[in-house]
Amino acid sequence: MESPKFLYLQTFGCQMNVSDSEKIASLLAGVGYELTEESAAADLIILNTCTVRAKAEERVYRQLENLRPLKRKKPALLFGVGGCVAQQEGERLLEKIPYLDLVFGTHNLHRIPQIVLAAEEGRRLAEVDFIDNETRMGLFPVDDRSGGVTRFVTVMQGCDNYCSYCIVPYVRGREISRRSADIVAEIRLMAANGVKEVTLLGQNVNSYGLNDPGQPDFAGLLRMVAAIDGIERIRFTTSHPKDITRPLIDCFAELPKLCAHIHLPAQAGSSAVLARMNRGYTRPEYMEKVADLRSVRPDIAITSDIIVGFPGETEEDFTETLSLVEETGYSDIFSFLYSQRPGTAAADFDGDLPYDMKVERLDRLMAIQKKITRRYSEALVGTVQEVLVEGASKRTGQVFGRTTYNRIVNFDGDISLVGRLVDVEIIEGYQNSQLGRLV
Ligand code: SF4
Repeated sequence: MESPKFLYLQTFGCQMNVSDSEKIASLLAGVGYELTEESAAADLIILNTCTVRAKAEERVYRQLENLRPLKRKKPALLFGVGGCVAQQEGERLLEKIPYLDLVFGTHNLHRIPQIVLAAEEGRRLAEVDFIDNETRMGLFPVDDRSGGVTRFVTVMQGCDNYCSYCIVPYVRGREISRRSADIVAEIRLMAANGVKEVTLLGQNVNSYGLNDPGQPDFAGLLRMVAAIDGIERIRFTTSHPKDITRPLIDCFAELPKLCAHIHLPAQAGSSAVLARMNRGYTRPEYMEKVADLRSVRPDIAITSDIIVGFPGETEEDFTETLSLVEETGYSDIFSFLYSQRPGTAAADFDGDLPYDMKVERLDRLMAIQKKITRRYSEALVGTVQEVLVEGASKRTGQVFGRTTYNRIVNFDGDISLVGRLVDVEIIEGYQNSQLGRLV
């Protein structure tokens, strides 16, 4: 019997990459690789990379250097890079990093077993060609029996929006929606294997089906998923504010399985900056969507992404971002310093701000959001929340799960609760989580 080979797989960036990493692991299991959490035990190390922010890209290069001594100890160890950095750099990565063995792009995931087998035979190769949509459509696996309590399900890939700062349309390709029948079949199989919550995933899920008249729109897809027995909760990410439609808003009123949380990235609070970002909405239009969502689901938790220091951002523009954050009352935000991505439209914009100014603005934004999140978290104290239990907490004797608002709750409980929806009284509100008591 052949001894097992071990795969150390590190994921950078977004949930799309987390989902891709699951596919990489499952495809490589087919050619004998078992996942390990110990890089020192690995026969193959893959970094699944992100290039949305310059920092994420730098981390990948640093991490490769950190791992390099392992290769000196074990010369047969293979190094691979996949994801968006791989897509963007292709062959150049092999030239830049002499100890790298394989590179695969965002459209070449399905080829990973063959690429790895070739690397095992001593070939260094980079596969980063985009493939046509017809072929791409057939590559989404449906036969997923790996279970779990919550799972991501890719419903569309790519993006046609070309926000001026964003590299995604160049490294993930144009939008393509998966067939709804395949999505439903995959989720049915997941439900049969114990999955209780699915998060529908895509760069811009709201535009699901728009390019394909044979498919329902995103609201229609949500209704199909809500009809699947065994699935008790549905989430989705990421939403583009300009594509939030009335039928989608109505889903929050009419589908009890749809969680009361939406990630609705505003990116900025000034209409002038939004126009330069090519976001396709103004501040009043964004606020109108927020109001519409709250009119059907007053308790809905809204989270956001905010970019600080976009080229030409004035103090007045930034003040508008701060006021948008306060007005919306986000339960949390992800905030980033603007970083120039070569190849995007904004890379040629004048008015790059001094680094210190960007950092100072980011600090102000974070301080304000910290207070808002704390207030939000404390307001939940004393309420009883339905929590889907996902696993054991770090603290012994406790388990954790999420509320419909996507807040993590830790509470005393037995591991046998995993997979169940239970009522939990919130007794403490922290910055990133809640403490509760099983009712
Ligand atoms: S919507 Fe904009 S920010 Fe989001 S992936 Fe597409 S281009 Fe990038």
